[in-house]
Amino acid sequence: MDPREVKVFVKLGEECAEIQQELAKTLLHGPYSYNPLEPMRGTNRQRLEKELGDLMYWLDEAVKAGLVDEHMIRHWEFDKRQRIASGAREKAPPQGGGV
Ligand SMILES: [Mg+2]
Repeated sequence: MDPREVKVFVKLGEECAEIQQELAKTLLHGPYSYNPLEPMRGTNRQRLEKELGDLMYWLDEAVKAGLVDEHMIRHWEFDKRQRIASGAREKAPPQGGGV
């Protein structure tokens, strides 16, 4: 894996961690709360939206770099919708073809 690919995966992980932080703050203090020491950084909801945007950027970079397959992501997105709609438990991913 070349350094650029490593960077994309590291950034994806960082953004996921930042989303977790913003979710925790939102759940603890509410979506419209903000840090009074940093009011210009926005409400918890705005900060969560910013981090979700960051994640989408790095996900797109991962697709462009060929690190993940957009069609498979869409497949699993559709599958998730189906499973939630049906109330079924999650199923295992297909065997073989691992990266
Ligand atoms: Mg971020």
